[in-house]
Amino acid sequence: MQTHQYEVIIVGGGGAGLMAALNASRGAKTAVLSKLYPSRSHTGAAQGGIGAALGNLEEDHPEWHTYDTVKGSDYLGDQDAIEFMCNEAVEAVYDLEHFGLPFSRTPDGRIAQRPFGGHTNNVTGKPVRRSCYSADRTGHMILQTLYQQCIKNNITFYDEFQVFDVLVANGAVAGVVAVDLATGELHVFQAKAVVFATGGFGRVWEITSNAYAYTGDGVAICLRRGIPAEDMEMFQFHPTGILKLGILITEAVRGEGGVLINGEGERFMERYAPHVKDLASRDVISRAIYMEIRDGRGINGKNYLYLDARPETINKYAEADGRTRPDGTPYRVTGEEILSKIPDIADFCRTYLSVDPIKDPMPVQPTAHYAMGGIPTDVYGRVLVDDKNTILPGLYAAGECACVSVHGANRLGTNSLVDILTFGKHAGLNAAEYVKGTDFQNLPEDAAGFTMAQIDQMRNGDGTEKVAELAQEMKREMFNNVGIFRSEAGLKAAYKKIQELRERFTHIRVQDQGKIFNTELINAWELGNMLDLALVVTESALARTESRGAHAREDYPKRDDANWLKHTLAWLKDGQVTLGYKPVTITKYQPKERVY
Ligand SMILES: Cc1cc2nc3c(=O)[nH]c(=O)nc-3n(C[C@H](O)[C@H](O)[C@H](O)COP(=O)(O)OP(=O)(O)OC[C@H]3O[C@@H](n4cnc5c(N)ncnc54)[C@H](O)[C@@H]3O)c2cc1C
Repeated sequence: MQTHQYEVIIVGGGGAGLMAALNASRGAKTAVLSKLYPSRSHTGAAQGGIGAALGNLEEDHPEWHTYDTVKGSDYLGDQDAIEFMCNEAVEAVYDLEHFGLPFSRTPDGRIAQRPFGGHTNNVTGKPVRRSCYSADRTGHMILQTLYQQCIKNNITFYDEFQVFDVLVANGAVAGVVAVDLATGELHVFQAKAVVFATGGFGRVWEITSNAYAYTGDGVAICLRRGIPAEDMEMFQFHPTGILKLGILITEAVRGEGGVLINGEGERFMERYAPHVKDLASRDVISRAIYMEIRDGRGINGKNYLYLDARPETINKYAEADGRTRPDGTPYRVTGEEILSKIPDIADFCRTYLSVDPIKDPMPVQPTAHYAMGGIPTDVYGRVLVDDKNTILPGLYAAGECACVSVHGANRLGTNSLVDILTFGKHAGLNAAEYVKGTDFQNLPEDAAGFTMAQIDQMRNGDGTEKVAELAQEMKREMFNNVGIFRSEAGLKAAYKKIQELRERFTHIRVQDQGKIFNTELINAWELGNMLDLALVVTESALARTESRGAHAREDYPKRDDANWLKHTLAWLKDGQVTLGYKPVTITKYQPKERVY
């Protein structure tokens, strides 16, 4: 077993991890550990853009961005953190520009911006152009740009190192334990500070836009070490995944004028959100789609609808809406213009559906997309371990695995890329600052013991259960009973099922005894993580007897501020979930009913 020593260890090489690494490495000896080669991280899949009130095409202000985010969060977001993020967003975008990111441009050379769900002009209530983009490859460009900066700055990477455990000694962080996937060897990294930036966990659900790697490792590792997870019941379903596959069709398609059409040929969002229609926030649209399908208005009565981005459709509804270009002329598009704005989406549709999006409508259904909840942190990325916001010295988290909370019960499109840049940066800066005044903790004697025990267990079961089957059953159960709509009966059934699957998991047996890229072992361990998170999500959702943001209870259809304007904290111990709560920070905006 090899041992290494770094002042700061970053776990994850996506947008949040790379931002943290760039900023930490300026002041401390830093290394990044990533289970994927960094440029394969899910940040690279982000299409639509990054929200910042640059005001390049029309009036906009960080205050408006703040208010939209508070409202979008259904008032569960912490308003101090949201204000902090929206103010920083503008600089974050200019930082990327200076790093060399090739943004799409306006004719006069400024960064182009387009409308996105939930982002509005606060005076008129109409959609505002706030999303900065690079065609439909914004995340890809961010990831490449940040990775190039890291290489330029000689940051040390341990690629394809999967972290299994975080070590804590004397009440402070002591390091992490990782498996080198190429050799199967265990490595112990002694560190004064550890930043988790491990992304989300959408793979818990059957239909998802998330990458295979989205198995919630960071949150699960922390749960096993007694750290709670916050607001785990808040999981976003994106309205437009490619039918059956879940692959995302970005909201930018609707930003460019695409509309949702039901089986009767109706643009039904006019009924649900008369002001912003197809650009209402995601929770609202996913529920609307679900209800249309439930009421028999899916395409041919089936469980999908159309996203229509044909130029004639866009132009028809743009005319009906009175939509104009920035110079005041009517908004009209050609097929070529549409294709130039969404080239990758067009490719996906041709490849996976044999559909040409400027000639045919795209069949879509909601897809599990984004974790609003995660490891509780403050705006400096410091992990908070209880309802009194007690800090665990040396432990940081940023990006989708963290819950600051800026997204509350529902994230607005384009706000995750802002989140990873802002809080990745501050976690990195603060970790580097913290290590200056701190010594290394002595590593516990059997530093890799807990990791070994987990691996042994997966190798020594009686082999009567199969990982792939358990995974499939979990995903289906979660999609059906802990999905867009929830009820007490469904959640209780899901809880029982997940507990049953967790018991059956103790019977799996990894057959591959090899050390080199033992993906069977890794997949099994990741399923263990997902089962832990599935349990925590379900129990948190069962307790919350109200509907707020992405959490829609059929048996409690109303938001209940008197009882539920609070964050959930969930601990997992000996297979049982314990819940606690902490208040939401409200500064300027008192909760109101959301009207779109
Ligand atoms: C299809 C899609 C489109 C999206 N589009 C947008 C958009 O247009 N705008 C927007 O704002 N948001 C968008 N999002 C959301 C946003 O892209 C993500 O939330 C964000 O990029 C997550 O960044 P991250 O750095 O937290 O995680 P990631 O970029 O996923 O990085 C996670 C890293 O953690 C590493 N890791 C995980 N577990 C371990 C472990 N055990 N050991 C070591 N390393 C580990 C991985 O190797 C990876 O490098 C989209 C998401 C999806 C899925």
